[in-house]
Amino acid sequence: MAKQRAIRYNLGMDTLQSTTRLTTHSTAHSSSTDGRPSWHELADRVLQGQQLTSDEGLAILSSPDEELLDLLAAAYRVRRRWWGNQVRLNFLINAKSGACAEDCAYCSQSRVSKADIPRYAMLPPEQILDGARAAFERRAKTFCIVTSGRSPTRRDIDVISDMIPQIKQQYDGLEICVASGLLGQEQAQRLKACGVDRVNHNLNTSRRFYPQICTTHTFQDRLDTLWAVRHAGMEICSGGIVGMGEDDADVVELALELGNLGVEALPVNFFTAIEGTPLTAANPKKLTPHYCLKALALFRLANPRCDLRAAAGRELHLRSLQPLALYAANSMFVGDYLTTKGQPPSEDYRMIEDLGFEVVEEALER
Ligand code: SF4
Repeated sequence: MAKQRAIRYNLGMDTLQSTTRLTTHSTAHSSSTDGRPSWHELADRVLQGQQLTSDEGLAILSSPDEELLDLLAAAYRVRRRWWGNQVRLNFLINAKSGACAEDCAYCSQSRVSKADIPRYAMLPPEQILDGARAAFERRAKTFCIVTSGRSPTRRDIDVISDMIPQIKQQYDGLEICVASGLLGQEQAQRLKACGVDRVNHNLNTSRRFYPQICTTHTFQDRLDTLWAVRHAGMEICSGGIVGMGEDDADVVELALELGNLGVEALPVNFFTAIEGTPLTAANPKKLTPHYCLKALALFRLANPRCDLRAAAGRELHLRSLQPLALYAANSMFVGDYLTTKGQPPSEDYRMIEDLGFEVVEEALER
């Protein structure tokens, strides 16, 4: 039977009292002994279609470590509703690397980075096709084509437009995601016209914190790109980077903003220090595996249906707790990232199998 109660989340040292009134129905998961609702009651409300609030998001990030398994179990119930025990694999190719005129402080490819990375112009079509084959062979459902730079050139879009139909012709069911920077309406429409399923463009952090990580474009520029993608009729992939020196409130704001946008895919990256980047020199506070898992639970509960990806930095920051990420996330990259290494695919497959999960239906070669 439905009942009304006030919620009160324990924030560790501080106690947050929310005036929110809520309706819960769960009898399977009882409230905690101090009277505040359990994480399962929060999951119940999310499953009923209620949106997470900022206070609830903050409570998740500052929850006591001893509640982590309960929190993950609650996030897992939400994950399971839409994704069952399936894991969606993604494979990316860095099709154009380095020499970007923007100044994103975390990025090894920016003009302010001195990182020792490969720098090259748009790869020839054969190498992009090789990438599609690698995606297929690694059992990926999505092939992500990434190019550096503020925005794609006309020639970048020409190359992509030529490639997409060939890839789709060869690999039935392999979805294509393109990440090529800021897009205007015409550029988005060209990508849609050639068969791109989804565009990745990460908001990265909150509007408030954005000027701390980039001065050459704005948070609003990024939002405008997402609207152009949506308007052109493609799916949106947008996520962020946790651990850049932002506050918990910034992570929560990002999670809720992405929920409001209704993004279809959401990569959560964990900041990876790369020697030569300004953000690495600034030495932001180190992430812990527990915090990373709480962040994934937050993004799941704020974005219940989305394809939530434990992305770059998962191996480094989650360490031996990495499998637990898949109780909140349903998706991950298999292989390397843009300029950093991932773990061998065999370890990813073993992790999925050991969890009793399975790789989502794969593409077929024609
Ligand atoms: S726009 Fe993209 S490639 Fe350029 S610096 Fe920023 S994140 Fe890196």
